[in-house]
Amino acid sequence: MRALCFTVDLDRDVNAPSASPCAAGSLEGGAVGEPRFSSSAEGLGVLSRMLGDLGVEATFFAEGRTLGRVDASLLDGHEVGAHGFDHEDFSLLDGEGIARALSASARAVEEATGSRPVSFRAPYMKAPPALISMLPGMGFEVDSSEYARISPSMIPSELPGGVARIPVPEGEDESGGRIAAYLWPMHEGRRRPGDYLRLASRMEEGALCIATHTWHMVESRASGRMSPGRAEGNARDVEAVLSGLLDMGFEPMPVRAAAGLWRGPRPSPGKI
Ligand SMILES: [Zn+2]
Repeated sequence: MRALCFTVDLDRDVNAPSASPCAAGSLEGGAVGEPRFSSSAEGLGVLSRMLGDLGVEATFFAEGRTLGRVDASLLDGHEVGAHGFDHEDFSLLDGEGIARALSASARAVEEATGSRPVSFRAPYMKAPPALISMLPGMGFEVDSSEYARISPSMIPSELPGGVARIPVPEGEDESGGRIAAYLWPMHEGRRRPGDYLRLASRMEEGALCIATHTWHMVESRASGRMSPGRAEGNARDVEAVLSGLLDMGFEPMPVRAAAGLWRGPRPSPGKI
């Protein structure tokens, strides 16, 4: 079984670290400014329609503050995980700061969707051990905050505390350059859909975690807001990746479901 876990970071536009590790800003003309949310809101609409048309149930890793600035009803039918509250850099926070941000992040998802999140991805893919150790106590069952080398078997492993680990795969392209399953370079015009399908073809079993951002559907990090024509081409590329993977036999499911597929029987309480 090859599962396709399409994961989308629902976060502030073109996010970048600011002077405070507790809150990210948005890039504007090459400098970090106040956070913006309009591209993320628009990109969520684009992805929601596309995923509905393709019948793909995805996982949105939603940042708390951004959730309050978008139409959360567009997330209906998808898993909503957590992605910090203010796009914090968790590697720079102490234990108390990590706990506070994790808790606010989970609460924001619960308020917006009615369900407590069980899946987590750290902003900037920076999840220090102190954060990983807190996840089970806060009700999280899945973490997707790491990259891992692609191999024939991508069966989810377990982190300390029993949290399932569903990493974003990476490997080499035909020229020997690094390629990760984050679609970032494709949105910036530096990769084609076929590059990701070739990466996926190296996997025979397990969960293939593809990742992107809502804002990246309509805004480029390098050149700002996309023209309507470029945004349409960008959406066609994402659709080509997804439909290509479906044609290859990958079965779409949220990370929570993929983690459950390969999770062994839990030891009974008290058993050593
Ligand atoms: Zn993010």
